[in-house]
Amino acid sequence: MALIKAINERRRGQPGAPAKGHGGRVRAQDVTIAFDTPGHRNVAVEATSLDIAAGEFVCLLGPSGCGKSTLMNAVAGFVQPSAGRLTVDGQAVSRPGPERGMVFQQHSLFPWKTVLRNVMFGPLMAGAGEVEAESTARTFLNMVGLEGFAGHYPMTLSGGMQQRVGIARALANYPSVLLMDEPFGALDAQTRGMMQESLLKLWDEFETTVLFVTHDIDEAVFLADRVLVMSAAPGRIIADLPVDLPRPRDTEVMLLAEFMQVKKQCMDLIRQESLVAFEQQRLRLAAGQ
Ligand code: ADP
Ligand code: MG
Repeated sequence: MALIKAINERRRGQPGAPAKGHGGRVRAQDVTIAFDTPGHRNVAVEATSLDIAAGEFVCLLGPSGCGKSTLMNAVAGFVQPSAGRLTVDGQAVSRPGPERGMVFQQHSLFPWKTVLRNVMFGPLMAGAGEVEAESTARTFLNMVGLEGFAGHYPMTLSGGMQQRVGIARALANYPSVLLMDEPFGALDAQTRGMMQESLLKLWDEFETTVLFVTHDIDEAVFLADRVLVMSAAPGRIIADLPVDLPRPRDTEVMLLAEFMQVKKQCMDLIRQESLVAFEQQRLRLAAGQ
């Protein structure tokens, strides 16, 4: 598609550059993230390492409270590791940056701005003029199928449409890494399935690296090249499962033996970790913490 080709060339700043593999490489080496409060240290992520190749789609799967968002927030630059090293394309992460686009679960759009103005926000912040920012925003609204809603306010859109605006807003900064924290978690199952398929199409066209947090096993296996499973708190990566399913994928792949096999591995690990998490909560309650 000519439009996407132009976008990718512009993102790379090199006309004629090869078509694939220009996302960012994300590396964490022995990253520990702790939150200190007087008299208490809460270790959310413990000595965790990961290496995500440029253009790869990786899902981070784990029980609630295991540190998924914390690890992702560190890659985004919102949270600083207490120890270890975190880099994107070899550069240490120290603050948020437009090359790392973030999509949250919900309520992340500016409610007082129109859809168009929400998506224009990033390009304007990056120094684009009104005309250029509008043209970029319209391109990405087109990509997510919402060009007809440019003048609407977020609250007048369905949850799924709002999340598509959120994705367009993140992509409008031409990120090399797209960070998605349970972006479809608040949507009904039908809409979620459609959003997953359309995200895979966007990813295929846009060639960005995706780190996607979820606690939904089907979602993780359906989307990912690799599923990283996290332990109960403090979070560590306890499994790195390649998903060898053909692409492009549609819901039919969920019926394949390979899908079931990875899903079963995830289910066993998550069940075991959820039991550990429940026991930790019980002990904390018993100790009056
Ligand atoms: P998940 O996304 O896997 O559900 P989180 O990363 O949100 O888990 O949380 C992991 C742990 O870190 C939890 O114990 C949570 O209370 C703690 N935590 C997260 N953010 C903060 C913060 N800003 N201050 C203190 N503790 C936090
Ligand atoms: Mg979370």
